[in-house]
This record gives sequence, C-alpha cells and structure tokens, in this order.
Amino acid sequence: MSHGNTGAVVAATAPAKINLSLGVGPNRSDGFHTLATVYQAIGLYDRVTVRPADETTVAVTATEGRVPVHDVPLDATNIAVRAARLLAEHHGFERDVEITIDKGIPVAGGMAGGSADAAATLLACDQLWGLDSAREDLLLVAAELGSDVPFALLGGTAIGTGRGETVTPLMTRGKYWWVVLESPRGLSTPEVYRTFDDLSGGEVGDPAIPDALMLALRGADVEALGASLTNDLQPAALRLRPELGAALEQGLEESALGAIVSGSGPSCLFLCQSRSHALHVATALRACDLGPVSSAPGPVHGARVVAAEGTA
Ligand code: ATP
Repeated sequence: MSHGNTGAVVAATAPAKINLSLGVGPNRSDGFHTLATVYQAIGLYDRVTVRPADETTVAVTATEGRVPVHDVPLDATNIAVRAARLLAEHHGFERDVEITIDKGIPVAGGMAGGSADAAATLLACDQLWGLDSAREDLLLVAAELGSDVPFALLGGTAIGTGRGETVTPLMTRGKYWWVVLESPRGLSTPEVYRTFDDLSGGEVGDPAIPDALMLALRGADVEALGASLTNDLQPAALRLRPELGAALEQGLEESALGAIVSGSGPSCLFLCQSRSHALHVATALRACDLGPVSSAPGPVHGARVVAAEGTA
C-alpha cells in the first residue's frame, strides 16, 4: 500500500568528514575502539533524494563522474535504506521510499560517505513524512546507525568521543582548504582496525586530542594546524597500502602544509594555505597520476535539505 503524497520529493546533501586528529584507544567489549577525535566537515557532498514508493529501493549515481560506485550495496544493507527504516520504526510506523544517492564522496575512502548518506536520508525522510523531529532525536537515531552519522548531521568542526558518536561542536573561526587524493580501490575499515590491533599488540592507552591541535584551531593558525594533524590509524593504513606513504611525501614536496591519511584511508588529505594554493597542490598531484584529486574547503555545514516539493 502506498502512503503519503506520491508526487512528493525531498533532496538533502551531506558532507564528507575528515579527522584532524584520530586517537584510537582500547578495543571495547562491544568490539568498537574508544576514540578521541576532531572531526571536520569538508566541501565534498553526497546528495540523497527520497520519494514515497510501494517498496523501498535504492539507486546510486555519480553525476560528477569522479567516484566509482560499484561497491555500494543496492539492497537493505545500504545504510541509507537502514536510515529510512530506523527513522520510521522510531516513530512506530512502516513506510517505503525510493532513494537515489548521487555520490561525490569516495566510497570506502575513510571519509564517511555512507554516514553522510544516512544523515541526508534521515533529514530528507523527516521532511517527507512531516515528522519535524527534534535535532536531539535525530542525533540519537543517527548514533544507532553508525559512529560517524551524528557528525554528518552536525557538520562544522567537532570533538568526537565514545566510538565517535558523541559529538561536541567546536566554535572555531579558521577557514581551511584541503586537497583530497582518492584511491582507485577502497580500504575496509574493519580490516584497518584489525591491522591497528596487530601493530599495537593490544597495548594502547586512552586516546587524547593533542593540545597543539586545539591551540592551532583556536588561533586559526594554518601552519600550526598542518604540523599537528595526527591519525593513529595511519600506520595500519600504510601497512595495508604502502604506496600511500609516497603519496603523502609527494604532497609535502609540492608545498602542502600537512599531509595525512583520512580516517581509515585510503584517501589522503593535504592542508593548504588558500584556495589558490590548493589548486596549485592539486595540479601538481594530478600530474603524478596517483588517483583522482579534488580540493574542498572546510569546515562546512552538516546535512541539510536542499529541495522539497509536495510536502506538508
Ligand atoms: P567508514 O564510514 O566505515 O569509515 P568509509 O568512510 O571508509 O567507511 P563508506 O563510503 O562509508 O567508507 O563505505 C564503507 C562501506 O559501507 C562500503 O564499502 C559499502 O560496502 C558499505 N555501504 C553501505 N551503504 C553505503 C552507502 N550508502 N555509500 C557507501 N557505502 C555504503
């Protein structure tokens, strides 16, 4: 049975996330690691469109053409489908939607593209179904879907604790430019964590956010920020993909102020002085033919509805 206004359509976008620092602590009894991280949302976006339907479906496109999407599942395991179902369940009803995801965020790239889709789907369905959920409520549903989903709703720059799902916004005034080097092949986040466990032999302390990073953010000091980027998963990502080490070196040689693997990788991030500096570094990296290269500002806003027709 179909529900609601069948002509209705809502579209929402959500940004990629990067981790300015990613401190990884012990493996918890639930299988997740304790994290202490500083997230930043950057200007690469997925766009999710939802329409009422008789059964829930998901289709994936990449109109920018940059992102290969063959690894994105098209069944109920797609996190956008899970997000729509969980939101309906949370409100005690069942409702089907046709979901279209247009990918601008690399898949399995350590930039939480799936989490962005989940956050955009929550906002789009919330509006499609006229729920008008409180932000706190959506954040709770988001945390159930995945560790990075609450931050995708929030955007900006924020501290993440717990397994990353507890987010605290940071009021910072700096505006930064990032160059993103994508990899032709994604990396499995669980495999990177397993390698982290192997490398650390299970001997890890509680994770912390470096003071130098907080100071750099407070002072909007781009050079200090470049010097204080950290990622505890980087050695594991480099173990699985040794060629990433050379890519990071190359970016620094091309004058980037900092270079780091994004989250669990394999995307690499290069901090730049300005938009024009980012264009320069991007051009130089493109010439090395290591993978697709783009540039993006950060921080940017979190998920938001960008188009709606026929809703209440
Ligand atoms: P994580 O969020 O686990 O750190 P990631 O950022 O590296 O992962 P994602 O693009 O979020 O990478 O995808 C991780 C995996 O999740 C993919 O390999 C894919 O199988 C699965 N997946 C499920 N739904 C989606 C989706 N909507 N978009 C992308 N991947 C999805």
